[in-house]
Amino acid sequence: MSHAPGPIPAAPVPSFYGLSRPRLSERLAELGVPGYRADQLFTWIYRKRERSPQNMFNLPAALRGGLGAVCDLKLPATSVHRSADGTTHKFVLELADGARIESVSMSTVKRTTLCVSSQVGCALMCRFCATGLMGLQRNLRADEIVAQVVTMGDALGWEDDRFNIVFMGMGEPLANLSAVSEAIRILHDERGLNIGARRITVSTSGLVPQIGELGAMGLQVGLAVSLHATTDELRSQLMPVNKRWPLAELLDAAREYGETVGRRVTLEYTLLGGVNDSPEDADRLARFARALPSKVNIIPYNPVPGLAWQRPSAEAIEAFVARLQPHAPSVTVRSTMGGEIWAACGQLGGLSPD
Ligand code: SAH
Ligand code: SF4
Repeated sequence: MSHAPGPIPAAPVPSFYGLSRPRLSERLAELGVPGYRADQLFTWIYRKRERSPQNMFNLPAALRGGLGAVCDLKLPATSVHRSADGTTHKFVLELADGARIESVSMSTVKRTTLCVSSQVGCALMCRFCATGLMGLQRNLRADEIVAQVVTMGDALGWEDDRFNIVFMGMGEPLANLSAVSEAIRILHDERGLNIGARRITVSTSGLVPQIGELGAMGLQVGLAVSLHATTDELRSQLMPVNKRWPLAELLDAAREYGETVGRRVTLEYTLLGGVNDSPEDADRLARFARALPSKVNIIPYNPVPGLAWQRPSAEAIEAFVARLQPHAPSVTVRSTMGGEIWAACGQLGGLSPD
């Protein structure tokens, strides 16, 4: 039996947000449109935040009408949850295939930090993290990463460039390095969002070879390493990735990265009450911090339903910091923002703000 073939599906139109300017230029050239139109499109879409081609008055009518065949300007469907004090927003983005990711913006008077996701879920199963409980559904593509930033910027109505980007949302960015690095290049573009390397930080649970790869790419972005323990024994219990890449190798890779890029590496340390907050831990952490150009960022544990860890008391946090501070080059305690809307570090995993 035979049946008439259906219509040939059109080649999928790539998302605008995954196209670098040179790539967009090439795509336009294939259609006989001069390359400088790519510069104009970047200005309209990233700088003027215009999403409707009909309003891009300096483009020829044919391009305005035909832009939909060149690239797709659609952004993900988004719901936004705002903290009571208005400083933190949690964005739940629904991607084209129905997968959901979460991103967070945190504002102070000085600046806004956008915390973006690199994967749907995460494979690395750190024992204190809500995303780790989900397992890995899939990697994000570069366009999905850039679209997160654009979506948040649109919702916040950004008017200036005082924001930083941290890859500290869902997922392990170095497990998806090709898409993450491609997205960073697009975010850097001076005709686009123009987000400089100094304002971008990639956080890793410790994928040693990929730390080297990131350094070799010459992107100059900041690196944060999730340490969370000062002995291999404890770290392997908390973070299974440590069995593959133990502390000594991780700290070496971090030091090399800092030297290559000429920036201090952030050592993140989530404080779990009664687990990793002893005076001996503080002393060992200070030793690590002195062994490389670094700054330590203490993150008091944020509760995850179903997990039995405890945030240390305010006095215990203070005591840990007091023990560490005189012996480490720089120590900050991350203020918890967005706890009540399940938007704090480690709480991104489909937890409901309602
Ligand atoms: N996957 C990357 C980046 C995302 S997590 C990484 O692991 O580095 C951002 C930071 O929050 C990491 O340092 C992570 O270990 C930490 N974190 C995870 N769960 C947490 C929790 N429940 N409370 C506080 N910090 C947490
Ligand atoms: Fe993944 Fe980071 Fe969570 Fe570990 S802490 S499970 S690496 S997102």
